[in-house]
Amino acid sequence: MRVICKKSMMGNDVRCQVCGQGFVVFWQGRVQVRQLERKLVLQHLRMQHEHAGNGAEVHPAVAFDVLLWDGAALGETAAQQQSSTA
Ligand SMILES: [Zn+2]
Repeated sequence: MRVICKKSMMGNDVRCQVCGQGFVVFWQGRVQVRQLERKLVLQHLRMQHEHAGNGAEVHPAVAFDVLLWDGAALGETAAQQQSSTA
C-alpha cells in the first residue's frame, strides 16, 4: 500500500494533530481500508514532529510518501490511536 501526502491550505483530507497543518492525501489502496490508513497517516505526521519541534515546517513542502504496513501491524496501530482524539 502506498499513500502520498501533500500540504494544503484547503480541501484537507487529514489535519496534523500536532501543528494543525492540513494535507491532501492521494490514496492508492482500497477504499475499505482508508479509515485505518488515515490513522496511520496521522501517526506518520506526528512522527515527523518527534525530532523537529512543533511547527508546521517539519513537514516536507513537497508531496511525500507515507509507508503503510499490512495485516497485524495495521490493527495494532489503530488500537493505539483510539485513545488520542485531540
Ligand atoms: Zn504537524
